[in-house]
Amino acid sequence: MSKNNKSTKCVHSGNLIDEKYHGNISPLYPSITYDFIKSDVYPRYFNSPNQIGVAKKISDLENAELSLLFGSGLGAISSSMFSFLKKGDHVILQDSLYGGTINFVNTEFNKFGIEYSYVDINDTVKLNSSVKKKSKIIYIESPSNPLLNIINLIEISDFAKSNSLISMIDNTFASPINQNPLDFGIDLVIHSATKYLGGHSDILAGSVSGKSSYIDKIKNSGLNFGANISEYSAWLLERSIKTLSLRVNSQNNNALQIAKFLTSNNKVEKVYYPGLKSHKNHDIAKKQMYGFGGMLSFELKSNIDPIKFVQDLKIIKPTMSLAGVESTITSPALSSHKKMDPEIRRALGISDNLLRFSVGIENFEDLVLDLDKSLTKNG
Ligand SMILES: *Cc1c(COP(=O)(O)O)cnc(C)c1O
Repeated sequence: MSKNNKSTKCVHSGNLIDEKYHGNISPLYPSITYDFIKSDVYPRYFNSPNQIGVAKKISDLENAELSLLFGSGLGAISSSMFSFLKKGDHVILQDSLYGGTINFVNTEFNKFGIEYSYVDINDTVKLNSSVKKKSKIIYIESPSNPLLNIINLIEISDFAKSNSLISMIDNTFASPINQNPLDFGIDLVIHSATKYLGGHSDILAGSVSGKSSYIDKIKNSGLNFGANISEYSAWLLERSIKTLSLRVNSQNNNALQIAKFLTSNNKVEKVYYPGLKSHKNHDIAKKQMYGFGGMLSFELKSNIDPIKFVQDLKIIKPTMSLAGVESTITSPALSSHKKMDPEIRRALGISDNLLRFSVGIENFEDLVLDLDKSLTKNG
């Protein structure tokens, strides 16, 4: 696949013009109050200048008609789902999702009489039998957290169309540089912009992109939910996205090298990375992704204590969040998936010895050395 012109879009799309002083970068418009006779701008209505500019940049990167920004990824996820759902509706969800999304669904849906089923999306028989009369949304994540499962996007968009479902994907792990799900017929693409779009571990934000008919609906309900972004964060996010393509391409390269190193190390039980030929859906990933991303997971041999291993790393930091320029590592069982029933968690393949590695933009030789030293010490 061609890389098209994403680097250029990252730098230029949606930037605001400084008409008064002719400065080179987008001015920041922090006002939350505007002349009521001359303007209808109010940031909670998704219509203030900086957030509109950044939404345009994300739309261009995702090949979307429109996008909206939110104050967090979960703000985008909850506002988008609740904009379409009502009492009695049913939602089909992938069985391996970001822990916070699972917690949102499990905690909130019952209160509003919304039914849901978690399904192994790659199992066609199970997927077909999960559809109910009241099914409204199919919600997926690919690559998924934390095991980097890959879902066939064309299959899911066809399935959604033939069952009159709205298809939504959490595209956070891929970033718009590596995957554009709208091109495969998925209806709505969500990002936790806290992750790759932000990229420096200092902004909390989210986005949703898609056709204007869907986005208008989310806008109309979203202004009631109020999960909005501040103009300060939007402005900072614009600056971050300018280097998104550079960062993600560097992370793609580093992650592949590290995945290969870990695969060949006898203190590592298993490596999950869609760029490895050994990944069970490598062929699908190759067809629908431009790059395989900066996230990988690996399981240590059972004699190694994962906490000690992590504590002996010098460069790679034990951190819960991901996708920063700095390499970070976490134990899903002790962080993102802590609230999950341990038996269900293990059944999904998230063992207590599994570590999720968010590969940064450092020199990969230094990262490999850091991993190797701690493996040797603890093995
Ligand atoms: C972090 C994350 C979210 C939630 O985003 P917040 O910005 O923390 O609300 C959703 N999905 C994925 C895949 C994530 O990694």
